[in-house]
Amino acid sequence: MKELIILSGKGGTGKTSLTACFASLARPAVLADCDVDAANLHLILAPETERCETFSAGREAHVRADACRGCGRCVAACRFDAMRLAGLHGTATVDPLGCEGCGVCAFVCPTDAIAFKERMVGSVMTSRTRCGAMAHARLTPGSDNSGKLVSWVRQQARRLSVEEKCQLVLIDGPPGLACPTMAALAGCSHALIVIEPTMSGLHDLDRILALTQHFEVSTSVCVNKWDIDAEKSVAVERRVRAAGGHFAGRVRYDSGVTQAQMRARTAVEDDTASAADIRSVWRQVAGQIAMAETGY
Ligand code: SF4
Ligand code: SF4
Repeated sequence: MKELIILSGKGGTGKTSLTACFASLARPAVLADCDVDAANLHLILAPETERCETFSAGREAHVRADACRGCGRCVAACRFDAMRLAGLHGTATVDPLGCEGCGVCAFVCPTDAIAFKERMVGSVMTSRTRCGAMAHARLTPGSDNSGKLVSWVRQQARRLSVEEKCQLVLIDGPPGLACPTMAALAGCSHALIVIEPTMSGLHDLDRILALTQHFEVSTSVCVNKWDIDAEKSVAVERRVRAAGGHFAGRVRYDSGVTQAQMRARTAVEDDTASAADIRSVWRQVAGQIAMAETGY
């Protein structure tokens, strides 16, 4: 089983659109939407959910009101300003968004009034799409455990690939270089970086290439909307080749992509103006994965 991850330096570069197009070209593939902070692959592939459950990670403090004497020690001890007293000598209450679950409040409480419970950080789903099975998740607003959630999504996608006897997992990766990206990238067979021809795109390119090199994941790069700045597109291509990466091609700007997605269709399925470019990039990337498999 091979895992191809599609990455970008920031949101809005066309990463998810390309992932959805690859899904319609690679059929069958198992899909993993690891962009859990802003999951939107489901908007294009319209999955039918087969399994959905809540996901918890970490813990948060809770005060047993009947045991609290309102001494305020927990308020003074909390470095995250998450503990409050309701009125003078009132009962302590916890701000769940501020609580880091460190346990200091419970340590200083003289009446043992503070307990901990699992923190719900989101929901996790496995679904069926017209392109194959899909693992995805939704992070609760304000939650910050998306690294763990990403690992769950990958795990489920691997399980689905075994069940479905499917040789390819397509991962819509999180944008940027934070913990969720590392959780999504580590151990992948190949990465495709989607870059826009801008100054910030060039800057992102260097940083993501360094990251994929660090994780020893072979990497291709494509330029999306290359025709908004042809010179910078050439600069991207030169920089990729100079860094020893594989340049997978260019995709033109195409307003038809959004039109297709509004109908929950991919650019390839609707054969919009950029469909041929996307097919070409897919052939290049698939070739790289096949080469890695055979050692040539
Ligand atoms: S330290 Fe314990 S008893 Fe004192 S206010 Fe906090 S929860 Fe209540
Ligand atoms: S567990 Fe830590 S962060 Fe949460 S309320 Fe207690 S002291 Fe504050």
